Amino acid sequence: MQYDVLIIGAGPGGIFSAYELTRLDPSKHILVLEAGYPLSKRKCPIDGKKIKSCIGCKSCSIMNGFGGAGAFSDGKYNITNQFGGTLYEYIGKQEALDLMHYVDEINLRYGGEGTKLYSTANSAIKKQCIQHGLHLLDASVRHLGTDINYVVLENLYNDLKDKVEFRFSCAAHKVEKTENGYRVTTDDGVFEAEKCIISAGRSGSKWMETVCKDLNIKTKSNRVDIGVRVELPANVFSHLTDELYESKIVYRTQKYGDLVRTFCMNPKGAVVNENTNGIVTVNGHSYEDPAKQTENTNFALLVAKTFSEPFKDSNGYGESIARLSNMLGGGVMVQRFGDLIQGRRSTPDRIRQSFTTPTLNATPGDLSLVIPKRILDGIIEMIYALDKVAPGTANIDTLLYGVEVKFYNMEVALNENLETCHEGLFVIGDCSGITHSLSHASASGVHVARHILKNA
Ligand SMILES: Cc1cc2nc3c(=O)[nH]c(=O)nc-3n(C[C@H](O)[C@H](O)[C@H](O)COP(=O)(O)OP(=O)(O)OC[C@H]3O[C@@H](n4cnc5c(N)ncnc54)[C@H](O)[C@@H]3O)c2cc1C
Repeated sequence: MQYDVLIIGAGPGGIFSAYELTRLDPSKHILVLEAGYPLSKRKCPIDGKKIKSCIGCKSCSIMNGFGGAGAFSDGKYNITNQFGGTLYEYIGKQEALDLMHYVDEINLRYGGEGTKLYSTANSAIKKQCIQHGLHLLDASVRHLGTDINYVVLENLYNDLKDKVEFRFSCAAHKVEKTENGYRVTTDDGVFEAEKCIISAGRSGSKWMETVCKDLNIKTKSNRVDIGVRVELPANVFSHLTDELYESKIVYRTQKYGDLVRTFCMNPKGAVVNENTNGIVTVNGHSYEDPAKQTENTNFALLVAKTFSEPFKDSNGYGESIARLSNMLGGGVMVQRFGDLIQGRRSTPDRIRQSFTTPTLNATPGDLSLVIPKRILDGIIEMIYALDKVAPGTANIDTLLYGVEVKFYNMEVALNENLETCHEGLFVIGDCSGITHSLSHASASGVHVARHILKNA
């Protein structure tokens, strides 16, 4: 069957493309190919008892399936151009913000009503930060929470499933140009469509590279962010998280002039494993439901690394560091800040004695054997700076999990419609290299859907 639009990937980018296409023109035949499972079948086998760490499932339920990498995330939709991607460089600042607000309205309509929208506007914390060399970025953040985020996705799926054809466990292998559009080859057969939207996310990053090579689409290599996830008693950060929920704070290190930033803050949340192409790194999330909340807050401290000539493989660099931590720790490692400063590894005994109880069962170890000195020095410097606005951050028992790596996809050459050099072939969301967040990925999906129908 010939489709009007074929979407590869059912993450936020793909979902919001499908949503907007069906809303604006219900007569269109749309096919969504998704490598992972439907939402109801997504289940990570780690239960903390029988299965304590990643067993490398064929399809990772955390990263793949309806809802994409964001399905079990904290559901923080940041409405801002200051972080989360560079979509605004392609479509303009106002349009990007308008689309993010539009996505927010849909999320509210599909189950998110009643959730809180936090804002940095007029916050006194900004002044407090700047006095200590810390810069609080401007944003509004809708916090759905992992539980409500799931409900929103469930409702979106129930609405879309009768309007769009979904094929799960159906990874696209090859994308070819035909006379009238595109042919996509999968294990389930070959599908053709006039337009093709690729939204394969970060888990599809390697595959995306092959598509670009096959179709001669220009790319440029991007950065990688390397760091740790910090976990501490929620009280230490409560004055920031109560007011802002998530504070994105940037610090320039005195020693090297590198930028270190907080990322993905989860008040009363849990630290979790993340599996990207078989490499286990660390991440975090939190629940809106008080019954599921913990006594800890976690957030990442990341240092951005970009390379100049001759080295181009920034993701390979991040992968090697993550592999080293997996080699030493069998997965994610945990170390108390006090042990790191004293130059000794954390042991199971030291972690047991800690006043901060870890929410992830990670291997006690020594992060200085894994993380390059320059990056680790920057993280330590920032922890001391944060200690001035949130005293207690630099306590002995503050837990550091490593490594956290944010892999960025290479940037695909796209025009203002997020269209490649091939007419009718669009790349959106994180696999385009221009979005790194739920709100930007979703907004990019709406933008392309509107463009396709405007020019149909
Ligand atoms: C644990 C975790 C927590 C996060 N928390 C937040 C947060 O709170 N706020 C925030 O803004 N961002 C968060 N993120 C990032 C956010 O989830 C991503 O930026 C967002 O999901 C990107 O959307 P996307 O549609 O581009 O890609 P994805 O969500 O990655 O979806 C891509 C989909 O494509 C499928 N796919 C890949 N290759 C193929 C193929 N060849 N054929 C068919 N299907 C394919 C994948 O299975 C996947 O389902 C989090 C990420 C993780 C992992």
